[in-house]
Amino acid sequence: MSKAAGAPDRSGGPDHEFIIIGAGICGLYALHRLLEMGRDVIALEAHPGLGGTWYKNRYPGCRFDSESYTYGYSFSPELLQEWDWSEHFAAQPETLRYLNHVADRFDLRPHIRFDSVVRSAVFDDGAGGWTLELADGRRLTCRFLMTALGLLSAPVKPRIPGIERFQGTSFHTYDWPEGLDLTGKRVGVIGTGSTGVQIIAELAGQVAELDVFQLKPNWCAPLNNSPITREEMAHIKAGYDEIFARCAETPGGFIHGPDRRPFHEVSREERLALWEKLYASPGFGIWLGNFRDILLDEDANREFSDFIADKIRKRVHDPVTAEKLIPKDHGFGVHRVPLESGYYEAYNHDSVRLVDLEETPIVEINETGVATSAGQFDLDVIVYATGFDAITGSYDRIDFRGRDGVRLRDKWADGPTTYLGALVSGFPNLVMLGGPHSASVATNFPRAIETSVDWAAHLFAHVMALGYVRIDCDPDAETEWTRHIQDLYQRQLLRKAKSWFTGYNPNIPGQDRTRYLIYTGGAPRYRRELDEVAADGYRGLVFSSPDEVPHLTSSEGVTS
Ligand code: NAP
Repeated sequence: MSKAAGAPDRSGGPDHEFIIIGAGICGLYALHRLLEMGRDVIALEAHPGLGGTWYKNRYPGCRFDSESYTYGYSFSPELLQEWDWSEHFAAQPETLRYLNHVADRFDLRPHIRFDSVVRSAVFDDGAGGWTLELADGRRLTCRFLMTALGLLSAPVKPRIPGIERFQGTSFHTYDWPEGLDLTGKRVGVIGTGSTGVQIIAELAGQVAELDVFQLKPNWCAPLNNSPITREEMAHIKAGYDEIFARCAETPGGFIHGPDRRPFHEVSREERLALWEKLYASPGFGIWLGNFRDILLDEDANREFSDFIADKIRKRVHDPVTAEKLIPKDHGFGVHRVPLESGYYEAYNHDSVRLVDLEETPIVEINETGVATSAGQFDLDVIVYATGFDAITGSYDRIDFRGRDGVRLRDKWADGPTTYLGALVSGFPNLVMLGGPHSASVATNFPRAIETSVDWAAHLFAHVMALGYVRIDCDPDAETEWTRHIQDLYQRQLLRKAKSWFTGYNPNIPGQDRTRYLIYTGGAPRYRRELDEVAADGYRGLVFSSPDEVPHLTSSEGVTS
């Protein structure tokens, strides 16, 4: 039952059977799967172009830190064979080109409505579906709603007095101005997470002055990027089956899996040999291919953190600056590790200054720049690399209302509650893709979203086959899953983190505390848990046929 793209059927039923919110990497794949199943589906995309995070993040230095060839979709052997990656860790423009190529190749574009900012999504019990209101006043209805909102799509600027007074150019990294020329400019970067680290390394020596305002340092490690030669690409193409099989078995969904030898049973020499090798190797091996105990055992973590601290001391010429760049409040890998290309060497440029905000906090931003307790820093440009209202922020920005008008924002006031990271009780026919409590964080994102989307596609095939019109989940199943998420954190040093992995953001009222946002049991276990639920007849889900739903006539039911 496929309808012409975008032509709403107003003969009594909803405008569309499915609406997906978001046409980033997740939304595109969901769109493809549902079209393949012959469903009537559109995707609503807030921006004028597709690609989500790769459409919006256009700052200098923006690139993968997952191996390019593990970041592509795995569903189409033809696509895998026809696409050549130019670097082991491709830059943003190449990734965006890839996603546009996918959209064209699978004819997805006619099914995407661009510039479609969803303001609210309200479940209508009578109609048995969702009504969406868009920022431009449009209203759209659907039976099933899927969210592919992105994990990091709600940018947050810091709460600093006077921020609006600055007379120069200022912006969040998510909104990097097109064509901005920074030559000869005095630039300030506030924030040293993965984004700030990429920008700082790229701008050092390229601008007149670069002042880096650092709240707390992060543990960073070399990306060790390089071009992919023609021969290497041919080799990669021949080995995709093995590459994806490898990704399927590692906790992070990357090619890097942990070294499971007990840390304390390996000699110091062997440890050092592994660490030197990992430090010189590309990608996340240093974090995810390290001894598993590094992320579980305080002593192991301390020893490895000391190893990295020495690397920083060797790379940064000024010892005082080097010390300021070494984290003291958390160990390596407890926060998300930024991978860098020349980040520490950036501080060896005379034109780059590190401003330690723990020592000399920002007092205000004023007309000409940033004032700290140490004095005034006059600037032409301020870059806010201050991160995102992660994972739940993009949900909070839409007024989701489930049965009886319950607001998702209120239900999640103390942190998200979900079943499988996919459903929320009282919000029928809403399936979240790669949302809170799924394994889409701390994992290779495309691998994770393929898990979520494939599971949802099978769920919908089940729904269609049996003629159900409503899916909800049992509140007890939701409570149990949410507790499971919290329990999983307790095993890891990660639980101590004050970063977006633990839902911590001091720039957002109410988020200066731990919230349990992500599934930390690893991608294979998550997949297994989803599969077991499906094999068990979708345990914990509640399905309704048309005759069980008041007000809904069977003619409005779903046909297979
Ligand atoms: P982030 O990791 O949340 O970092 C935000 C930075 O801003 C932190 O250094 C934070 O300091 C600082 N900050 C926050 N409020 C501040 C304030 N009021 N004053 C001064 N500094 C402040 O955000 P992000 O760097 O945008 O990265 C977010 C995530 O995006 C990453 O973890 C990663 O998953 C993803 N990402 C991926 C790539 C890639 O694939 N290569 C690249 C970029 C980003 P504190 O840490 O002290 O709070």
